[in-house]
Amino acid sequence: MARRNADRTFDVTIVGAGPVGTLLAILLARRGYGVEVLEARPDPRVNPLPGGRSINLTLAERGWRGLRAAAVDDAVREIALPLEGRMIHDEGGGTRFQRYTPRRDAIFSASRAELTMRLLDLAEREPRVAVRFGHRCVAVDVARRTIALRTPAGSPVEARPARVLAADGAFSAVRRSLLKDPAFRFYQRLSPISYREMRVPPSRSGAPAYATCALHLWPRGDCMIVGFPNVDGSFTVSVFMPSQGEVSFAALCDRDTLDLFFARSCGDLAVNVEHLAHDFFNGTPAPLLSSGCAPWVHDGWLALIGDAAHTLVPFLGQGLNAGFEDCTALMACLDRADDDWAAALAAFEAERLDNGEAAIALAERHFDELARAARDPGFVRRKAIEERLHALAPDRFVPLYTMVAFECHPYTEIARIRERHEALLDRLAAVPDIESRWDDVDVRALLEVELDALGDAAARPAAARAPELLGTPAVAE
Ligand SMILES: Cc1cc2nc3c(=O)[nH]c(=O)nc-3n(C[C@H](O)[C@H](O)[C@H](O)COP(=O)(O)OP(=O)(O)OC[C@H]3O[C@@H](n4cnc5c(N)ncnc54)[C@H](O)[C@@H]3O)c2cc1C
Repeated sequence: MARRNADRTFDVTIVGAGPVGTLLAILLARRGYGVEVLEARPDPRVNPLPGGRSINLTLAERGWRGLRAAAVDDAVREIALPLEGRMIHDEGGGTRFQRYTPRRDAIFSASRAELTMRLLDLAEREPRVAVRFGHRCVAVDVARRTIALRTPAGSPVEARPARVLAADGAFSAVRRSLLKDPAFRFYQRLSPISYREMRVPPSRSGAPAYATCALHLWPRGDCMIVGFPNVDGSFTVSVFMPSQGEVSFAALCDRDTLDLFFARSCGDLAVNVEHLAHDFFNGTPAPLLSSGCAPWVHDGWLALIGDAAHTLVPFLGQGLNAGFEDCTALMACLDRADDDWAAALAAFEAERLDNGEAAIALAERHFDELARAARDPGFVRRKAIEERLHALAPDRFVPLYTMVAFECHPYTEIARIRERHEALLDRLAAVPDIESRWDDVDVRALLEVELDALGDAAARPAAARAPELLGTPAVAE
């Protein structure tokens, strides 16, 4: 099918050359479209981010599915490290490894800067893609189908693109323009938690400071510290804590207080306090927010996608994965609509908007699980019950994180199943000593009854784990 628009230079204009914008450009170019990507910043391969630091992103199954669809998964895997579980660090420096799944699924850690640059390289290899750096979208006018830009020359330019996909992130300028429409709804929730990135280099011999097969977690109530391994043997360590309060960025205001905090509550991080303190005090903590909006599609000409449409707090590691899933969903809608864009965009919004909202809510709830619950004996007990239920009936009881990270089950379905699971776990956790009595006749009978009651309503549609998804490579210990 001829997809090119003969009257215009480009068939699609994407605003934002972040990971979602670049993956989208590759996917659309492979369908035969001419794609222009407008990026406000200079080329990061020529002008690295100031400070040279970058946060880490974890890629899960939804993300890989998008990368596989564009056949760029191998190229991305080169810059990513597999993590098979969480390493929980206690106050005294002791550790406990929680494998994500018995079948040894892994999420993958990559530096955001590396990922962005790799996807830019891959996008620019496509003959139908043109990336224009230093081109900032200032506003869009849906009625006139125009987009106002500031170019590197500083001069304002008005363009008339054939259609616009806005992948310009959590602070989307395109979305800001849409606020003029009274029918457009937008909300933003500021998290009480802020974050700060720090780097722990490898030792002189090149050995990493912590095991590289896990995501490291120091859960400390209102505060949580997460460590991600990098391919060069360094670790990115992120501190998540309130801005104000007893344990907060405001309270850890000088070197003595910070040293004391690490020494008391994170013994095995304290040994790296020199590196941590340097980064901790060099800059200010960054805020975290959730945001959502509707509608995403305007006049069949413009659609919001990725963080511009739905911004998630990072606790579930799903913001980017959800954005990549948007890209595959849009391609499937184009397939079904035979590339009728108005129909495809309408179907895309109908399928994805509620999922975006569900993902936002799931991500907000997950902080409690990571920061508070992972160290709470009641939570550890519920985890043991979950594992038992999953071992007994792997198809009927799948833990929430497994459904989110290792399958492509819709977020709306996961939210519904989560409610049922929570009620079930409440009932089973009320049974005295259940975790040491799995083989007792009464406990076995109870588990069977509860699993039967879950029935088909909690069973996952077969499509959740499509056959091609089973090909995730085996991960070494
Ligand atoms: C601390 C933290 C940790 C995270 N960890 C994870 C994780 O582990 N896993 C995960 O899946 N997600 C994670 N996320 C979320 C993830 O970073 C985002 O979901 C993802 O970056 C969204 O990609 P995007 O391309 O939609 O937006 P962005 O990455 O924000 O890219 C937007 C692009 O648009 C450009 N742009 C902005 N405004 C304009 C304009 N006016 N004109 C032109 N260009 C513009 C920007 O320069 C940028 O290049 C995390 C987020 C944070 C804050």
